[in-house]
Amino acid sequence: MFKFALPQPTSKNKLEECPIVRLPDSAEDWTHVLRALCDRSYQFDGDESQSFSVVAAFARLGTKYEFRQLRTEAVKRLTFEFPSQFNRLDSGIHIIGANDLVFRAITLARETNMLFVLPCAMAICCQSYTIRDLLNGVGSPDYPYIVLSTEDQRAYLSGWYDLIHMQAKETFKWLDPHMRDTLFPDCVSRARCTKARARVLYSIGMSHPISLCNPFSRFDWEMVMCVNCTIVSKVQHARGRKNIWIDLPSFFGLPGWDELLKE
Ligand SMILES: [Zn+2]
Repeated sequence: MFKFALPQPTSKNKLEECPIVRLPDSAEDWTHVLRALCDRSYQFDGDESQSFSVVAAFARLGTKYEFRQLRTEAVKRLTFEFPSQFNRLDSGIHIIGANDLVFRAITLARETNMLFVLPCAMAICCQSYTIRDLLNGVGSPDYPYIVLSTEDQRAYLSGWYDLIHMQAKETFKWLDPHMRDTLFPDCVSRARCTKARARVLYSIGMSHPISLCNPFSRFDWEMVMCVNCTIVSKVQHARGRKNIWIDLPSFFGLPGWDELLKE
């Protein structure tokens, strides 16, 4: 059944004549995995949401004991939440049960060598958590506190800086007052459009600092600019999101997407 060498039962380790094998993994992980192995309908219900503890069990034991289908299921769920494809970036939530999901997913990705989860998970981390969260860890009533490894704390800090820097040059380049004449030569309402962009820039800059880091923001475009400015801004915004996505792994010290997605 298992490809890995496991401790062999001895004549003393028996329960009702059945040999007992002691495994070093958590009982909760094995509960989920054994249920999945004995009941194929267990937790394989298409696109329905799934609890993080099941995903983590499938990822950990699926990797360790080469239960390929369980690992594949875990990859599918994790990449719904933390996409590794740009066109999946705006997908919905498919994992439930952990408020501190991002920290746990990052730790799980390192543990199970699913590094393709990290760029998106780290970007969400930069967007959602403060430096204090990073240093002290995060938790919830249902889960113990979790602190990222030193390696991932470093990745967060350098990535956060890069994202803040790059979103100004890419996603929100159209808000840069210095780019007004370069980007909008066909503007038909210069004073009104300049004022509209300044208002957005001010509202972003004066909000909670965490929201400053949002390189994949989906702008609602309800601001008042002329048609020409709106078209140019939308194109620049979309191009900026894509450009940052392409370089995203490098911000966190990871190999490029091609290398990460070789699995
Ligand atoms: Zn304009």
